[in-house]
Amino acid sequence: MELHVLDRGRIHADLNFALDGEVAAVHSNRDPDLEYAEFAVWNLLIDHPEATVLWDTGSHPDAADGHWPAPLYEAFAHPDAEERDLETALGDVGYGVEDVDLVVQSHLHLDHAGGLYHFDGTDVPVVVHRRELEHAYLSAKSTAGDDAYVAADFDHDLNWRVIEQDRHHLLDGVELLHLPGHTPGLLGALVEREGRSEARPSESRAERDDPRGTRDDAENVLVAGDVAFLKENYEDGRSMGASLLYDSRANEASIDFLQDLERRYDARVVYGHDLEQFERIRDGL
Ligand SMILES: [Zn+2]
Repeated sequence: MELHVLDRGRIHADLNFALDGEVAAVHSNRDPDLEYAEFAVWNLLIDHPEATVLWDTGSHPDAADGHWPAPLYEAFAHPDAEERDLETALGDVGYGVEDVDLVVQSHLHLDHAGGLYHFDGTDVPVVVHRRELEHAYLSAKSTAGDDAYVAADFDHDLNWRVIEQDRHHLLDGVELLHLPGHTPGLLGALVEREGRSEARPSESRAERDDPRGTRDDAENVLVAGDVAFLKENYEDGRSMGASLLYDSRANEASIDFLQDLERRYDARVVYGHDLEQFERIRDGL
């Protein structure tokens, strides 16, 4: 099984969205400078002997040209969404949309579901958690729910494959994990690469404590996704901003669950939008 990381460009937004209270006015500094940050948008192409799987479909190429609601684009700009569209990013790693046998949507927010139109009218299964699909329609078609769903992303003639379990065997070595919090139906994945992790001596505590880097040698991969936008959300217990949390307590529980799996499987954890990590994994996981 091979994992290819697809570069879908950068979202530009206030860092406070990802790290709650990162910049705040305090008595000794009443007018601090906000930090406008860049966040990576990526998809995975899992080339598995049983199927070629696309993990998420990224932002719609017209995100900047009206596909995303203006207030949302103002807060979360994605100026290279067209330049880094799905076909281009797949082409970078030697694949085309027609090679994809199966799509998994971690969730249906607009920076993850914007390429689903490629599968409109096809029989390519699109895996989604029931709670996500329900919440996406509720959000996009009513004033309830949250704003980051665009009906035009997912309201297509798709071959939805709705899963309901907390853990779902997708393919040999690929297990889907229900990780509610950021959204009600967020999915992550545990990818086990047979033989490789056993052949490798487990890391010493010193390696494990290394702030960034050495854990990227681990062969098993935990796709945490938007449970943790950044490393700091996962490793330092830094909460994401309230607007990115449908259920903050559920998100904490999902992080606890992932940390348990990380230890059990000696896995490398992949965060949702961490540009620094992305720069290191973009050439392959
Ligand atoms: Zn996201």
